[in-house]
Amino acid sequence: MIAYNLKCADGHEFEGWFASSAAFDEQAATGKLLCPLCNSRKVEKAMMAPAVSGTKKPEFSAEDVKAVHQYMSGVRKYVLEHGEDVGKDFPEEARKIHYGETAQRPIYGEATLKEATELIEEGVKVAPLPPDVDKLAN
Ligand SMILES: [Zn+2]
Repeated sequence: MIAYNLKCADGHEFEGWFASSAAFDEQAATGKLLCPLCNSRKVEKAMMAPAVSGTKKPEFSAEDVKAVHQYMSGVRKYVLEHGEDVGKDFPEEARKIHYGETAQRPIYGEATLKEATELIEEGVKVAPLPPDVDKLAN
């Protein structure tokens, strides 16, 4: 549900509730909007009311957040256990692996945002290592 402040040609302001902005557009286009004070059909949107119905659910439930944290911890753990820490050589090593100049292996290390962007633009498969969520939580 969405609330609009509506206004008729005579300047009467009132509030109308609609299933969606498309529903408002349809009712306005078909002349179904009526001013409750003077029955004028010349009704238009005033300002959008800063109110929405209270049925909107939060975007992420606690379970969702927990699942994401577990996933991120899992990825981080896997990379740290199986990857080779190449530190600041990461961009160079990632490039070498991409162009087959060195052995294919999982690596991790440091790259600036600029370096990471350049790698991605070259088609090198890199991904940011998820933060240590267990540490962030504490
Ligand atoms: Zn009116």
